[in-house]
Amino acid sequence: MEDVIVLYPSPGRGHLISMVELGKFILKHHPSFSITILILSEPNTNTNSTAPQYVASSTTQYIATVNSTTPSITFHRLPPISEVPPSTSSFVELNYLIPHLNNQNLHQTLKTISQTSKLKAFIIDFFCDAAFEVATTLDIPTYYFFTSSPSGLATFLYRPTLHIKLDKSLKDLGSTLLDIPGLPPIQASDLPDNWKDRTSKVYEYSLNAATHMAKSNGLVLNTFDLLETKSIKAISDGLCVPDGPTPPIFCIGPLISSNNQNGDDHECLNWLNSQPNRSVVFLCFGSLGLFSAKQLKEIAVGLENSGQRFLWVIRNPPPDNEKDPNLDELLPKGFLERTKDKGFVVKQWVPQVAVLSHDSVGGFVTHCGWNSVLEAVWCGVPMVGWPLYAEQRLNRVVLVEEIKLALCLNESEDGFVSATELEKRVKELMASEVGREVRERISILRDESVAAMKEGGSSHVALTKFAQPS
Ligand code: UDP
Repeated sequence: MEDVIVLYPSPGRGHLISMVELGKFILKHHPSFSITILILSEPNTNTNSTAPQYVASSTTQYIATVNSTTPSITFHRLPPISEVPPSTSSFVELNYLIPHLNNQNLHQTLKTISQTSKLKAFIIDFFCDAAFEVATTLDIPTYYFFTSSPSGLATFLYRPTLHIKLDKSLKDLGSTLLDIPGLPPIQASDLPDNWKDRTSKVYEYSLNAATHMAKSNGLVLNTFDLLETKSIKAISDGLCVPDGPTPPIFCIGPLISSNNQNGDDHECLNWLNSQPNRSVVFLCFGSLGLFSAKQLKEIAVGLENSGQRFLWVIRNPPPDNEKDPNLDELLPKGFLERTKDKGFVVKQWVPQVAVLSHDSVGGFVTHCGWNSVLEAVWCGVPMVGWPLYAEQRLNRVVLVEEIKLALCLNESEDGFVSATELEKRVKELMASEVGREVRERISILRDESVAAMKEGGSSHVALTKFAQPS
């Protein structure tokens, strides 16, 4: 019987791609394994439903490419579930709920696979936590793949303890400093919004996931040993799960896709070819980052006043964010004309890894999504952190205060950033002593990240341990 590893990613792009890259990395070094990746389908929707939509299609092209270039990976699409309960209140809730509704399909699929192969490991995204119960019933060794930072994992694992320690919801604790093993003191307000209300469904889902993670066979992290040593040590030393054993952790990363969706020939890359070395600041905010029209105008003023060269990805403000942005309406009058020698504005999407790898890019204003952070490290581009959602505020605290790879951007209470603040930080990053220090640090870590992924590097060694015969 062949050894199979089954991966169960959440379909969001920031989750799915790194897990598929994990599958590719496993196969590269252990070609005797076979890899099956379960893909959750979008539910059949009732057009009148008020439930949030589960958009899984942005990775279709990526999956098709991997399918044709890596035939030893099998994608297995689970059948769509019939409908999402209308009481589902948020996108994050949906991400936890859909795997729950798929448990029967999953049970059947895993049973079928085990009839013909030896199921060596089942690796699940934390959003797919519902699968833990199924895997336990079938006695399959189960690992969690954590798609964010080690500090994020330290905090996640520590949540059941925090839940007991605190008698209030995080939302009622404001800027109270929390003591989380492996992290610098962190304000309650810097933790993810969906952990802040003890009465919410998502709070319950994520707390359960944290409890199950601690009981799993292991935790796989998309990082390398030297990036965040304190949080990795705190987890390994068992400080984040004080009331029981901590499973082994495997730092296997950075896992970065080299498939340039939408191309190596993107017009922004031609423009970058004509710019001086390390002169351009790149502004891009993940797969979901959006700003109000007022904020977009303010960014434009800040960039223009900074005098720096820039490449800026713009999306239309909500609620019409799927539409192409009308730049003449959204940007200050004459902005595009005045900045045409120094700036390049792209609508919607750029091939980010190709941009960050380009010699002309010298700085990155990022929302601190974990894949974006790893890509910046991999390419040695220093950052300014402008977190928008999920665990990005937490990532920024660590990036700025602990590992010093990013500068902080000051926001008002409601998250608004003034033109003056952006101008100041961009100049600081691109043309100051402080920026130089961050740049030097990130270039050391870039070399470390490349070394980690090579034969004998720490991520390769971690993979070897993971793949040891059980
Ligand atoms: N990305 C991209 N082009 C864009 C915006 C995002 O290629 O214009 C990619 C980026 O390279 C990263 C992913 O989308 O791999 C975003 O993941 P991340 O974890 O940074 O943020 P999320 O989208 O999950 O918030």
